[in-house]
Amino acid sequence: MEYRHFIGNAWRAGDNGESLDVIDPSTGEPFAAIARGNAADIDVAVSAARNAMGEALDGPWAKLSPVERANLLFAYAAAVLENADELAQLEARDTGKALKTARTDAAVLARYLQYYAGCVDKLHGETLPYTTGFTVLTVREPIGVTGHIIPWNYPMQIYGRSVGASLAAGNACVVKPAEDASLSILRLAEIAADIGFPAGAINVVTGLGSEAGAALSANEGIGHISFTGSTATGALVGRTAAERHCPSVLELGGKSPQLVFDDADLDEALPVILNAIIQNAGQTCSAGSRLLVQRGIYETVIERLTQRFEALRSGPPAMDLDTGPLVNAKQQARVRSMVEQAEGEGIRVAARGKIAVEASRNGFFHEAVLFRDVPPQSRIAQEEVFGPVLAVMPFDDEAEAVKLANGTNYGLVAGVWTRDGSRGLRLARKLQAGQVFVNNYGAGGGVELPFGGVKASGHGREKGFEALYGFTSLKTIAIRHG
Ligand code: NAP
Ligand code: MG
Repeated sequence: MEYRHFIGNAWRAGDNGESLDVIDPSTGEPFAAIARGNAADIDVAVSAARNAMGEALDGPWAKLSPVERANLLFAYAAAVLENADELAQLEARDTGKALKTARTDAAVLARYLQYYAGCVDKLHGETLPYTTGFTVLTVREPIGVTGHIIPWNYPMQIYGRSVGASLAAGNACVVKPAEDASLSILRLAEIAADIGFPAGAINVVTGLGSEAGAALSANEGIGHISFTGSTATGALVGRTAAERHCPSVLELGGKSPQLVFDDADLDEALPVILNAIIQNAGQTCSAGSRLLVQRGIYETVIERLTQRFEALRSGPPAMDLDTGPLVNAKQQARVRSMVEQAEGEGIRVAARGKIAVEASRNGFFHEAVLFRDVPPQSRIAQEEVFGPVLAVMPFDDEAEAVKLANGTNYGLVAGVWTRDGSRGLRLARKLQAGQVFVNNYGAGGGVELPFGGVKASGHGREKGFEALYGFTSLKTIAIRHG
């Protein structure tokens, strides 16, 4: 199967006629191809989106009333649910993620679309008290055309939170999916066209990040750019956007800690802690990849996690084991090298999972690894691995726990496990993170909960009502009437 771009509600051949292989991570074999988009393709997509908006917000998309826009988004959510199985199969084949994870992704995407559909007619400005004789009001206007650079780890969810919110705010979108995860996004654009989204409201240009992605972030017609991915690429995208005064939301991953105190309910905590690093084979921006454990229960926690890690198995999506393969050979090599480096530094492996015998030797599998007594300054404690690798370290008291937790460049999510309610709240205020969970850890949280980073984890907020503001331009209108 050879896929083209999806622009203006139609499949469209790329400018250069070139394509890229789509690889099945379970086997390392190509099974399809996507178009290798360039700046000319991005121009065509941006023009289609501009036409949907119209010169004076009179285009076929912009002129819809809020309730018509909301109804289309509700219909989109329903169509995603109707096609959820097909979308999940496509995603699992393309990215290697376990089928159950891909099914969850489709369901969460539908939730985002429902949530933002419900927000459309509740997104409004205010009237402001000002000098006598004036009436002042604010209106929230669409920005115009927004750009969305989507990574390969949760393509459908990230499409939902970013494209869903932008459409709800009334913008038209140009999407550049990751080259390793374009198929679900192309299908989603096609589904939108089928259910009646006007041409140009949603456009997808596939290709390489350094080509199509860079062209999208540099395009003069793009009024806002959303990016999720690595810190280094995020800085590049943010800088390019800033040069033409284009606002950006950057969600750049993390090294998120969970703090487990002596008084924690371990029966509650351990399954959540395990899932937070195993889900999607650890390829989750908000993965709980550092575990800080108070000394009194340290050996107990290590022992119980060791049993669980030793039972973990990785295999192809269809087997629906604990983890699928990693997304590509580059990620597999990265995880391997970080694990090997840590072992070379003498950091102790407490447990390893297994790769299923049925798994192809050419697939990009990596077993789960549990490291113990990890020095806080080591690479495995400081850098995002993006694999099923958990770094555990002990602490003595609250002050040390906070210092360790805040002791990386990142700040996306944090978790605190304690039966002491005051301590939970106290620490939630001290931890440097965009989201803090007490006695729970939802990688990413619900669609309703604002999400995003501090420090090298990025800036701006996605999810929840908060995200909508970022996709609007606030205008203040001051009327002197005497
Ligand atoms: P990446 O380079 O940051 O890629 C993320 C997205 O940006 C992809 O859609 C990519 O497209 C695109 N991109 C790449 N270069 C670009 C450029 N110059 N201009 C505009 N867009 C560009 O990440 P990666 O290389 O796939 O993964 C490396 C590491 O990044 C991972 O190990 C992980 O630590 C981190 N990461 C984090 C997240 C997250 O959720 N926060 C997601 C993915 C990766 P192509 O893939 O087509 O090149
Ligand atoms: Mg692939």
